[in-house]
Amino acid sequence: MFRIFKQVQKVAFGVGCFSKLEEVIAPYRKDGYVVFLVDDVHNKTGFKATIPLGATDKMYDVDVTKEPKVVQVDKLRDMIQAENKTLPNLVVGVGGGSTLDIAKAVSVMLKNEGSASLYQGWDLVKTPAVPKLGIPTLSGTGSEASRTTVLSSDDKKYGINSDYSMFDIVLLDPELIKNVPNEQRFYTGMDCHIHCIESLEGSFINSFGKVYAKSALELCKKVFLNQGGTDEDLMVASYMGGASVANSEVGVVHAMSYGLSLVLGYRHGIANCIAFNQLEEFYPAYVPEFREMMKLNNIQLPTGVTSKCDEAMYEKMIQMTLRMERPLTSALGDNWKDILTPTKIRSLYERM
Ligand code: NAD
Ligand code: ZN
Repeated sequence: MFRIFKQVQKVAFGVGCFSKLEEVIAPYRKDGYVVFLVDDVHNKTGFKATIPLGATDKMYDVDVTKEPKVVQVDKLRDMIQAENKTLPNLVVGVGGGSTLDIAKAVSVMLKNEGSASLYQGWDLVKTPAVPKLGIPTLSGTGSEASRTTVLSSDDKKYGINSDYSMFDIVLLDPELIKNVPNEQRFYTGMDCHIHCIESLEGSFINSFGKVYAKSALELCKKVFLNQGGTDEDLMVASYMGGASVANSEVGVVHAMSYGLSLVLGYRHGIANCIAFNQLEEFYPAYVPEFREMMKLNNIQLPTGVTSKCDEAMYEKMIQMTLRMERPLTSALGDNWKDILTPTKIRSLYERM
């Protein structure tokens, strides 16, 4: 199969490299300004105050109480357009996967008409985006390396998946994730771990994807089986996990976890963990090790999360899972609908 795989063009990496941000963005300030979209947790962590804002730059807080919504992206785009006479030369996203995805989506929507919902899907974006730079402060989603920006609306959680939604530059400074609370670090870190497993176990993977996924998986083990893994390892794993998915697909875990997020509001990382824990029949080589990681990291997953679901909620989760055709084809083959029937999906959700 011939396909051109886009990559992030520039990666600034290393402990303390955040101090080089001014240098990295200087070319974009020459005849214009830079927009910073910053996870609002950094009002509390104090990190926001360290962002080098230029005289004409603009900074907007991003509320990630819930995962990114189409309307949130549309609103931010409208606000930036209304408050500034020209478009920015660069959009910088600073935060976890949610903020990175919002920055990616906003950079696309500044150049494309209508609502972001029009572009959820594969290669639907027609006009190149405003350049964008990602600075993760939480590691695992791989959003910094992927071509996806995942957005939810009332009835679906679905990515804008386009070469134009990939960052042009990312800055990976392991110092920026050192104070992430343990549970969040684990759940988001497991997103990376699961990306690698789903990539490797799926049929859509190519040789690039395999190398990225295998290496990232080793790093995740080092970190979460407490074998001396560092923040630097986790940050590299997240990036490579994202690159592996760009060269493959996710699988059954993501197809199920999207339903939990859409209907029950669970964040992506924890939703993946809740789903993965019940999917040993699909990933027998990996689920026992995942349980060992939970133990070693003092993580207790919530149980019975679907116990209060009514018929309509189950139906919405099932429909969400069935919509994940690409991941399910990669994971289970062309006849996936014979394996993952609505009844089977329901029984899996009931166990969670
Ligand atoms: P998140 O961005 O939703 O953040 C989780 C919490 O951690 C938030 O409260 C946030 O404020 C906080 N946080 C962020 N940085 C912190 C720091 N340094 N210290 C303390 N708290 C911090 O979590 P996430 O798991 O990184 O991202 C999840 C989102 O990423 C979901 O919306 C998911 O769909 C998306 N995702 C995208 C891709 C992709 O390829 N684009 C891949 C996987 C997941
Ligand atoms: Zn994921």
